[in-house]
Amino acid sequence: MSGSVTVIGLGPGDPRYLTPAAAEALDTAEDLIGYLPYVARVPERPGLVRHASDNRVEVDRARHALELAASGRRVAVVSGGDPGVFAMAAALFEALEAGDPAWRSLPITVEPGITAMLAAAARVGAPLGGDFCAISLSDNLKPWDVITARLKAVLAADLVVALYNPISRARPWQLGAALALAAEHRAPGTPVILARAVGRPDEAIRILPLAEAREAEADMATLVMIGASATRLIPREGEAPFVYTPRSVAR
Ligand code: SAH
Repeated sequence: MSGSVTVIGLGPGDPRYLTPAAAEALDTAEDLIGYLPYVARVPERPGLVRHASDNRVEVDRARHALELAASGRRVAVVSGGDPGVFAMAAALFEALEAGDPAWRSLPITVEPGITAMLAAAARVGAPLGGDFCAISLSDNLKPWDVITARLKAVLAADLVVALYNPISRARPWQLGAALALAAEHRAPGTPVILARAVGRPDEAIRILPLAEAREAEADMATLVMIGASATRLIPREGEAPFVYTPRSVAR
């Protein structure tokens, strides 16, 4: 078998946030697989076959990538942000685990990317300076009960919480429920960051107190970050404040 699979993180949107290693892997690929908006971010070139899908079943897409690689093709699978964060890399390994044992001898590599949480944090200051966690609010792949149990645990542990997949047309109420839970554990003034389309032309970032965040609009392209008790603002004249979480915690 001379084929291979590279799972590539494209970063949040700005092409300057694509790593040189990821760019190199894209340059040498023969097949490009991914969800349509991500495939669209990779410039067309002769010799690159594009398999953009609107299929949300990621494991099907991953199986397709492995089949192509087994037939000798050099395949690039693309995700936005980092491919290991709520994205294609885990789907690929799920397909590998369940699939043809011969696939296990294929060269499979993962090229990291800048995940939305890190890109959003950098825009506002240093909200992830202390301990933090990331939770996907999507209940497509796990029950809502599990999500709320995890949220309660990390809110009680006083971690900064980054919420991926906060809302969609099919899931309109989950973000409001998550922020209501947060309000049970955190002060009303706790900074909440709503970072939309970071690194894209329509980027919009809002910093709101928790008490007002529930009314704020968010969509599928938004990353929501709820501060810990120590997360604070540095106000500035005529500019958005900086948000940061000190690294030290009193003994
Ligand atoms: N692999 C991606 C995350 C996929 S889950 C990554 O590492 O970033 C999809 C969710 O990621 C979206 O619902 C949104 O919450 C977040 N997201 C992805 N790109 C984003 C961007 N440019 N700005 C803000 N949030 C983004």
